[in-house]
Amino acid sequence: MSVALKAKIADLFEEPACDKNQAKSEKDRKKGCGKQLAPGAAAGGCAFDGAMIALQPITDVAHLVHGPIACLGNAWDNRHSASSGSQLYRTGFTTDTNELDVIYGGEKRLFKSIREIIEKYDPPAVFVYQTCVPALVGDDVEAVCQRACEKFGKPVIPVNAPGFAGIKNLGNKLGAEALLDYVIGTVEPEFTTPYDINIIGEYNLVGELWQVKPLLDALGIRILACIAGDGRYNEIASAHRARVNMMVCSKSMINVATKMQQRWGIPYFEGSFYGIGDMSDSLRQIAQLLVQQGAPDDLLVRTEQLIAVEEARAYQRIEPFKQRLTGKRVLLITGGVKSWSVVAALQEAGLVIVGTSVKKSTREDKEKIKDIMGDDAHMIDNMTPREMYDMLREARADIMLSGGRSQFVALKARMPWLDINQERFYAYAGYEGVIELVRQIDRALSNPVWQQVRIPAPWGDDGETLGMV
Ligand code: SF4
Repeated sequence: MSVALKAKIADLFEEPACDKNQAKSEKDRKKGCGKQLAPGAAAGGCAFDGAMIALQPITDVAHLVHGPIACLGNAWDNRHSASSGSQLYRTGFTTDTNELDVIYGGEKRLFKSIREIIEKYDPPAVFVYQTCVPALVGDDVEAVCQRACEKFGKPVIPVNAPGFAGIKNLGNKLGAEALLDYVIGTVEPEFTTPYDINIIGEYNLVGELWQVKPLLDALGIRILACIAGDGRYNEIASAHRARVNMMVCSKSMINVATKMQQRWGIPYFEGSFYGIGDMSDSLRQIAQLLVQQGAPDDLLVRTEQLIAVEEARAYQRIEPFKQRLTGKRVLLITGGVKSWSVVAALQEAGLVIVGTSVKKSTREDKEKIKDIMGDDAHMIDNMTPREMYDMLREARADIMLSGGRSQFVALKARMPWLDINQERFYAYAGYEGVIELVRQIDRALSNPVWQQVRIPAPWGDDGETLGMV
C-alpha cells in the first residue's frame, strides 16, 4: 500500500464525531472499525466497490475504472440510483488492464483512456478509480490525473481506493475523501440563498430524493448539492457555500460532514427520510439550523404548517392499510440507518417488529432502536439463514424485509418477502414513500400465491426433504 494511501486511511480512522472511536486507545484506533470476518462468511464489497457506490450517482461525470475489466463488472450499476438529466454515469468505462500493463505499467493506457473519454464525451470531469492490480504494479494514478488535468483543462479526479485497502464502508469514505481533496470548494455557485443545504449520503435510489425535494421546494429550501444522488459535478464543487448539511446515512460519508464543518463552519445533523415522524423531524431540524444560520425565522412557522398538512394527509392515506396490517409481524434484516428509521415507519402502519438486524449498525443506531422500541430485545446481531428460515417457517414472523441476498430464505419458508435494500424497485422516502412501503407490504402479504405454495404436495414433501434448505 502506498504511503499516501496509508496516511489517508489512518486519517479516516480518526473520527471526531464518533464517541466510540474517540474512546479507543490510539493503538486500537489505528486498527479501524472493520470486524474480522468469520471463515465462510460473505465478505461484501471491496474498498473500490464502496468508492464507486459512493460516487457513481454523480450523473454527469465519466467514471473510469483503472484495472482489469472484472473490477468494473463487479461494481457497475449495482444500485438503482436515478438521474434527472445526464445518463453518462451509467456508461461503464475501464482501462481493461492486461498482462503487458502489469509488466510495463498501465499509466500510458490510463492517460490515453482519459483523453479518449474527454474527446468523445466532453464531461465536466473524469473520476479515475484505482483498483488492486495497477495499485500493486505501482501506477501513480494521482500523477496521471494531474497531468491529464493540465493537458486537457478539465478536472480529472483520482479516487485512490484499491480493493485491498479494506471493506466497502472504508471505500465509501475514501471516495468521499476524493471529493474533499479535489472537488468541494473548487467552484463558486452562481448565487447563494439563506436557504441552501447539502444532503450527504443520499443516493437517490429509485428516485427517493424526488419524494423529498418537493417538500423542500415548498418551503423555499434549495438543495445546493446532493452528495451524491442525482448529483452534478459543479453543484458538488460548490457545496461549500451551503448553510447546513444533512447526513442521511452516517456510516458512509460522515467524513464529508465533519470536514466541511471544520473547513467552512457548516453545521450538520443526522436525519432520516423514512417514516412520517422522521421525515417531519428532518424538516424541523433543517429549518431550525437554517434559522440559526441566518435564515428568516418565519421558516419555522411555515415548516410546521407544511408538516401538519402532510402528516394529516399521510395518516389518512395509511388508514385503509392499517386495518389490514395492524398486528402483522415483521422480521427486518437490513442494517445501518435503516435498522431504526424503517422501524419507525413500520410502526406507524401498526406492524409489529419481531427483530431488526444490527450487524451493520453503529452504537448511535442501536441507541435509536432502543428509543423507538423500548429495549434491545429485538436487536439481532448476526442471524444465520437457518435461524431466519426457522423463524419464518414457525410463523414467528409474517413477512421478512431484507436485501436480495436473503430473499430465497423467505421463499423457501413460503413466506412473503419485500426488498428493502439498495436493489429495491420502489422508493420509500418522505411521506409518499411511507405510503408506498405500506402498500408494498400489504401487496406482499395478501398475494394469493402464498396460499397456493403452502398446500402440501401430494407426495408429502415439506420442502426440507428435498434439501431445499
Ligand atoms: S478486490 Fe481488487 S480486484 Fe477485486 S474487484 Fe475490488 S478492486 Fe477489483
